[in-house]
Formats: sequence, C-alpha cells, structure tokens
Amino acid sequence: MRNIVIFGAPGSGKGTQSALLVEKYGFKHISTGDVLRAEIKNGTELGKTAQTFIDKGQLIPDSLMIDILAATYDGMQPCDGVIFDGFPRTIPQAEALKEMLAQRGTEVAGMLELAVPDEMLTERLINRGKTSGRADDNEETIKKRLAVYNEQTAPLIEWYEKEGKRHAVKGYGSLEEINAALCTVIDTF
Ligand code: AMP
Repeated sequence: MRNIVIFGAPGSGKGTQSALLVEKYGFKHISTGDVLRAEIKNGTELGKTAQTFIDKGQLIPDSLMIDILAATYDGMQPCDGVIFDGFPRTIPQAEALKEMLAQRGTEVAGMLELAVPDEMLTERLINRGKTSGRADDNEETIKKRLAVYNEQTAPLIEWYEKEGKRHAVKGYGSLEEINAALCTVIDTF
C-alpha cells in the first residue's frame, strides 16, 4: 500500500501531476478540493459550509476536513495506493493523517513536494482562472490563498523533512519532465 502525499502551493501542478500518476500506477486519488467542490455542486450542508471558506481563500476547519478525509479514504479501499492531493494543509492535519493511517496498519510512504517559484504560481493561477470556472481563481482570492499557504501549509515541508519523508522535485519545465522526476522517487517507495 503506497500512501503518497503530493504537496505544493496552489498552482504548483498537484492536480495535473496526480492525474498522470493515477494513469501510470493505477493509484486512487483524493483531492480534498474536488471533494468539497462536489459537495458545493450537490448543494449539501457540508458544501454550504465549505463555500464560505473557499470563497474567501481560507481553509476549512481541521476537524471537519479530517473527518471528510477519513471517510473518503475508507470509501476507496481496497486499493494499492492513494495519492493525497491538497491534504494535509496544516500540521494538525498531517498529525491526524499519520494517526489515521497507523490505525489502519499503514503509513505515508513519502511526501512529494512540487517546488515552484512564487511569481510563476500567480501567473499559472490567473491563466487557469480563464478556463477553470473556479470562483477562487481570481486575483484577489489567489493572493489570499498564497498567503494562507505560506503561513499554514508551508511549515509542513519541515514537518515531513523531520519525518524523513520529504522529496522535493522541480515543479516547472515540461509536464513530462516533472512527471519523470516524480516517478523516479515513487519507484523507490
Ligand atoms: P484546492 O482545490 O486543493 O486548491 O482547494 C480549494 C479550496 O478548498 C482551498 O482553498 C480550501 O479553502 C479548501 N480545501 C481543500 N483542501 C483543504 C484542506 N485539506 N484543508 C482545508 N481546506 C481545504
């Protein structure tokens, strides 16, 4: 069972690269952002709560996210591997993920960090906003999301480094190059 965290700022390419990895390895993919957007689309109570945070570029509270993550993970079993995309985003979420996997007799195999310079992130997100239809891909919310990333999510780099599980990969260049770099790491798991 390979549990892989794909990590990076908004616009770092986590979703795009996850799709390529799913195709190559047959892993299941958990994108917490996609889960929340599906709830919003279906008009559920959870979706209504999530929308208030997403529209402001803020994170959904940890307790809620952790329950959603565990339910989604269990719903995907059995499988050979899972890619966690957009989770964890805070240190409490990383601790909860570690505990949840330990309770199931498994662990995170590695954290793959897509490293992309800040100015490239903003440009990519503004371009994505032209076609993504995502309400949060506008300039003001993008700024807020990048600030939230730097404050609350970036400390996870050091957290995974201390766990001995961080693998940084250059997150720019061609999709194929980035993908090849990720696969080289995954093949060691
Ligand atoms: P994403 O599609 O990963 O960029 O997520 C879009 C938005 O969903 C984020 O800006 C957050 O508001 C929310 N979200 C997604 N994943 C999480 C998470 N793990 N913790 C808190 N909020 C999240």
